[in-house]
Formats: sequence, C-alpha cells, structure tokens
Amino acid sequence: MRRATNQAIAFALKQHEAVNHIVEPEPLAKAWGVIIIPGKANRATNGPPSVITLKRDTYAPRQRFTMHHELGHIMIQRAGLEEAIKGEVDAEDAQDHLEMVASYIGSLLVMPDPLVRRAFDRYGVTPQTVLDLQSSARVSFAAASRRIALAHTDEPTTIFLSGATTVLDVASTHPRSSLRPYSRLPDPRASFPHAALLTLSDHIRPRTIGVIVGWREEEA
Ligand SMILES: [Zn+2]
Repeated sequence: MRRATNQAIAFALKQHEAVNHIVEPEPLAKAWGVIIIPGKANRATNGPPSVITLKRDTYAPRQRFTMHHELGHIMIQRAGLEEAIKGEVDAEDAQDHLEMVASYIGSLLVMPDPLVRRAFDRYGVTPQTVLDLQSSARVSFAAASRRIALAHTDEPTTIFLSGATTVLDVASTHPRSSLRPYSRLPDPRASFPHAALLTLSDHIRPRTIGVIVGWREEEA
C-alpha cells in the first residue's frame, strides 16, 4: 500500500486505541469530538467544529457503516493527509481512491484488533472465526472474511462462501488463488481436502464456509 495511505491508517489506529477501540459509531464520534447531524448528503468536515452530516437511510446496517466511513474521512483530515492520499493515484482516480481508504479505515474501526484477536484466540483460523467476528462486529460475511484473511499474516489465507454448486464470495490473500465468485464448486471437500469447512444448516439451500490456510499446488 502507499505511503500516505499507510500513515493515515496508522494515525487512525492510534486514535482508536486512545479511546479503547470504541466500536459503535455514535459513542466513537462523541469521544473524538465529532458531531453527527442529519443532512442532504453524507459528508465529513474536520472543521473545527468536526461535523458529519448523514442522509437518512432506512437500511440500518448500511447507515451504521456510513458513519464509520465518514469517521474514516475525519481521521484522514485530522492526519492532514487527504491531498497526499489523492496524490497517490492519477487525478481521475483520486476521489475513488480516497473513498476506498476511508472505507478501509471504517472497516478497521468496526472490526478493531481486539475483536479480531479474540476471534482468533477462540477459534484459530477456521470458519467459526469469521462467524464470531461477523456477529461481534455486526458486519456482513464479506466484510468479516476480508478482515480475517488480511489479519492472518502467517500464511496466505483464502476464505470462501459457497452455495450448492458455486462460490458466492471469496476473500483471499493468496497470490495464485483461482477461486472467484461464480467458480463451480460442487464438492468443497473433494476440491480442498485440507480446508476447514463448516456447512450452515440454517439456510434452505446449503451453504458452506471454507478456510484454506496456505495453498497446495494440487488444489489449484
Ligand atoms: Zn466518503
């Protein structure tokens, strides 16, 4: 990742640690001296005063992550790195890049290290680890699996969710992972004999979570 982005992430992590990793966005905003008010657009201004305006959204989980995303913008602005981050890419991609960095910081705020460590301590690197983080942070499977894959730095890690015959979602830090959404995967056990697998029975159609640590050539 790029230098200004890395600095902004490090700054945000330090600020988050300073308030004991508060996860819920309203108390976190309060602890950081940020006011959240309704507005016509989702926007963050460090000020002073630090203000986040939020459009009303009827879908509560998205509204919650929007606050984390906007707090990510506040962190970038407080670090004084907004222009430097935009400068990391070509001008036409600058705004998208800045939004991605704000979302990445938002994901670290909603899934801070202590929650991730607790999930690893309880379940190792398994499907249960992802489900534990998903429920403790109240995030999507996609968000939790990406965070776990990136946080497990010992070996490349691939986490997939599959339906009856195809892959639905993949998070992977393996450079040669061939799994993609919509890849055919009718029998995960046969394809990945060394994967930790968990089949969820609470769906009408079967769903399987697989965690593959490392990657053996014969499995690719
Ligand atoms: Zn944004």
